[in-house]
Amino acid sequence: MNKLYFGSNLKMYKTVADTVAYLRELAQRTADIDRKEVQLFILPSYTALESAAANTDQACIKLGAQNMCWEDQGQFTGEISPVMLEEFGIRFVMIGHSERRHVFGEADTEENKKVRHALKHSFTTLLCIGETAEEKEFGISTEVLRTQLKIGLYGVDVKDAANLWVAYEPVWSIGVNGIPASVDYAESMHYEIKKCLREIFGEAADEIPVLYGGSVNLGNANDLIVQPSVDGLYVGRAAWQAEQFERLIRNAKAAYEEKRKTAD
Ligand code: PEP
Repeated sequence: MNKLYFGSNLKMYKTVADTVAYLRELAQRTADIDRKEVQLFILPSYTALESAAANTDQACIKLGAQNMCWEDQGQFTGEISPVMLEEFGIRFVMIGHSERRHVFGEADTEENKKVRHALKHSFTTLLCIGETAEEKEFGISTEVLRTQLKIGLYGVDVKDAANLWVAYEPVWSIGVNGIPASVDYAESMHYEIKKCLREIFGEAADEIPVLYGGSVNLGNANDLIVQPSVDGLYVGRAAWQAEQFERLIRNAKAAYEEKRKTAD
């Protein structure tokens, strides 16, 4: 995979005004980076999506929603449907973030319904998976990831693989109390994920980007991005200031290019 993916989920941190200012600054700072080489994406809060879309060229920064319902409309108080996202020009959604699973109790079967519905709308669909610290301790990380993939992607047609992205975000590595995964551990899990995706989709799996997320920062981004099974970085805290995110992207891109040069 030649393109590198860099993105951030803004969670419930930025207001509409903050989001628009952040996106403007990020767009300006990264304007010279070739979008054929780098796919940049940001997931604002629902309330900021309309203004974000009105103020962003999505050819430069793809915008997405942090979650979505598995129906177009109905008795689903508090939910947002793909039809509503499309009204804002949003055609990209994240499903199954660790906080959806572990704070709001979503199960793999629900993630599956959402994934299938997003793909039915031809949305770019980013499925997040990751094991807890306890599951890692029991030595079942691979089994957990395989289960999340096999259930989460159950019934997905191979032709829709082109709209799928996967993020590996170990639960124990995310957020303020997170411990970054070692580079070797991240690579070995990414390898297993890619193997499982190939079992599900055959050759079409080779086009599915697999991103690493969980305490990515300026200190570890370069080592992670040069791993053979890591296609991109999904960054939280270290991306929420445009200047810092720009630096992380430029450094990681340079490290990746250097690695390719020495490999040739
Ligand atoms: C996340 O919450 O998905 C995440 C990657 O956060 P952080 O980088 O802050 O650990």
